[in-house]
Amino acid sequence: MDNLVLQCRCGQVKGRAIKVDPADGTRVICYCKDCQSFAHALKAGAEVLDEQGGTDIYQLPPARLQIQQGLEHIRCLRLSEKGLYRWYAGCCNTPLCNSLAPRVPLIGLVHSFIADPEREAKLGPVRACVNLRGATGQIPKGKLDAAPARGYIGKIMLKIFGWKLSGQGRPNPLFSAKGEPVASPRILGPGEEI
Ligand SMILES: [Zn+2]
Ligand SMILES: [Zn+2]
Repeated sequence: MDNLVLQCRCGQVKGRAIKVDPADGTRVICYCKDCQSFAHALKAGAEVLDEQGGTDIYQLPPARLQIQQGLEHIRCLRLSEKGLYRWYAGCCNTPLCNSLAPRVPLIGLVHSFIADPEREAKLGPVRACVNLRGATGQIPKGKLDAAPARGYIGKIMLKIFGWKLSGQGRPNPLFSAKGEPVASPRILGPGEEI
């Protein structure tokens, strides 16, 4: 297991993901429209989205994410009142990660925050392509065959359950001990940009 270097585009927000294991299998490509809207809101679509509108995301429990520098630059937006918390670096608008309410121990690191030169080896392959209905183009069959959505939801639910049981929901660098987000979320309307 290894640590993964995290850094925003301009270098003011730095962190790491710890205990990263390529055999763990929690890397997905999400094709949902909200992930696309998030990238577009930050004018980061070209950098973040693949040819079919997918976002490469590494999922981990909060206790394995550490922000070492620049927490004060972190901003939050939501695409609806109850949408995911979508975190980005206010210094340079780099998408960082997504999270649910703090009682659900799951964070999805967006690849734009992963600055590790050995990321491919450390993360291992993409395990599932999810939310395929949001894709903006035909996803190549080879890509789908290598990372089928089938079975993944059950697998990640089990992992979340295990992470909760083993206390890995805390500490959560994005929420206070009382469950308050470190940056108050701005609700973004359809098509709105930062
Ligand atoms: Zn930055
Ligand atoms: Zn998504």
